[in-house]
Formats: sequence, structure tokens, C-alpha cells
Amino acid sequence: MKSVKKSKLSSKYSTLLLLIVLVLVLLVSTMFFADYHGKYLKYDPLKDVSNDRCYYNASTPIVLIHDVSPKYIDEMKEITEILDNNHYSTRTYLFVIVNHANENKLTDYPEFVEYLHELDKKGYHIQYHGYDHIAGEYNCNESVAKQKLNESIKILNNCQFDTNTINYVITPRYKLSKDSANVFLNRNFTIIMDYYILKNRTDGIEKIIITNKEYTWYMPENCTEIAKNVSIVDYKNSLKENNQFTLSIHPKAVNYGNGIEFLDYFLRKTNYDTLKDILSGEYNSKEINENKK
Ligand SMILES: [Zn+2]
Repeated sequence: MKSVKKSKLSSKYSTLLLLIVLVLVLLVSTMFFADYHGKYLKYDPLKDVSNDRCYYNASTPIVLIHDVSPKYIDEMKEITEILDNNHYSTRTYLFVIVNHANENKLTDYPEFVEYLHELDKKGYHIQYHGYDHIAGEYNCNESVAKQKLNESIKILNNCQFDTNTINYVITPRYKLSKDSANVFLNRNFTIIMDYYILKNRTDGIEKIIITNKEYTWYMPENCTEIAKNVSIVDYKNSLKENNQFTLSIHPKAVNYGNGIEFLDYFLRKTNYDTLKDILSGEYNSKEINENKK
């Protein structure tokens, strides 16, 4: 009789203990995932790119999508599917045209805006390309540049984007007057050009050399294999020079021929090779720093 009572009591205790452990596990994992998720979403790899070789070691490529416009919604969906599959959301920057050709105002395309918000939630970076993308629109004077930028920010605000986090710009055709450059830099934009970026630091403007390549401008099908090989060589050289590698792509141009297959190959291969080489010590940071001296 006594032993039955005892075992009943101990089973009661063990159930209680199990419950406590379960609640604790649930609490800790919720906290962990909330924290991880928060960091994951805020991760901004372009922010770290620097000339300071002691501090910065170039790694996996960063993808820059130019000409993000409602005109290319279908092409964009095909591109982002490949990026999603390769876990590239936080390493991808979308350069948006707010009123493409002066007849595609973002506010008139709620489906496209919603799609961009979905990408934003996944960790993609919504950034700025231009107002209408007509000719080299930012090859202009200060007052025109200010007017275009103000109008663009207004449209982006109206589409509920957090304009505080929109601080990277690629101007159409990389054309940019000195006046326009100052307008962007004074508003703390980082300017991405064809082979370098400009950052406004407290002690002046920093110019950082990057390796910015585009292989898929309506690439002929018989060039697919050559492009694959060349891109991997370019990427590895870039790592050795400790320059950040950025892959520029344009919707429609990359969707042509085998462009999408190339994109998938490049992202897969660089992810795999970087990991493999880092593990084998090939891109040891000390080695890179010494090579630079
Ligand atoms: Zn463009």
C-alpha cells in the first residue's frame, strides 16, 4: 500500500518535471528563433565592405538587381525563385525605379509593391535606382537631383517602404554628375558604381574598389559554358585581391537564353567553393593581409 502511494507520488513529480522542462525548452527556442530571425532580417553585408583590410575580408558574392520595375514582375519572380533556392535573400539588393519611363509609377502597381514587401520580409534589401530611368537622368545639376530624389522618396514612402533603410543607390547607366553625387552622399547614401563604391564616412568620402561583373546581358546560348568558367575565375581572383565581388543582373536580360541557368550555377558554385576553401584555409585572412602589403 505504501509503495503504491510512493510510486503514484513520484509519477506525479516526474510529470510535473517533464512539463517544466517542456515549457523551458519552448521558451528558450522561441527566444532563440526570435533573435536569430531578427538578426537575419537586419543583416546588411554591403555595410561592412571597406578598405580596412584588417577588418574586412571579402566573401560570398553580393547580388545587385538593376531596373527593378513593375514592367518586369514576371521576370523578377523567376529571378527571386533562384535566389531563394540558393538562400540569397540577405545578400541581394533590389534597385528600384519608382516611375519607369515616366509612365509606371509604383503607387499604380499594388501587386508589384506587395511582392516587393514580401521580398523585404524575406531579407532582400529594397534600394534606389532612379526616378524614370530616362537616359543618364542623374547626370544633372543639384536642384534637379534633389527634386528627383525627393519625389522618389515620396513615392517609396507612399508605398509604405521604410525609407530610413533605403541608403544605397546605383544611378541609371552608372551616370552621375558631381552635383548629384554630393546630393546622395550628403543624405548618407552609399553610391555603387561600375567598379567601386563611395561611402560617406565621418572623416570624408571613402572610395572602395569592388569587382562588379555582369555576364548575362542577353547572353547567347553558346556562351553559357564560357561564362560559367570565366565567372568562377573572376570570383576567385576577386577573393584573392580581397575585393568584394558583386554580380549585377538586369531582369529580362538575365531571363534570356540560359541566363537563369547561369545564375543558379554561379550562386551554387560560389557558395560551395567559398565554404570549401575557407575550411581548407585557402582564404586565410592573415595571408590576404600579407599579400596586400
Ligand atoms: Zn538601369
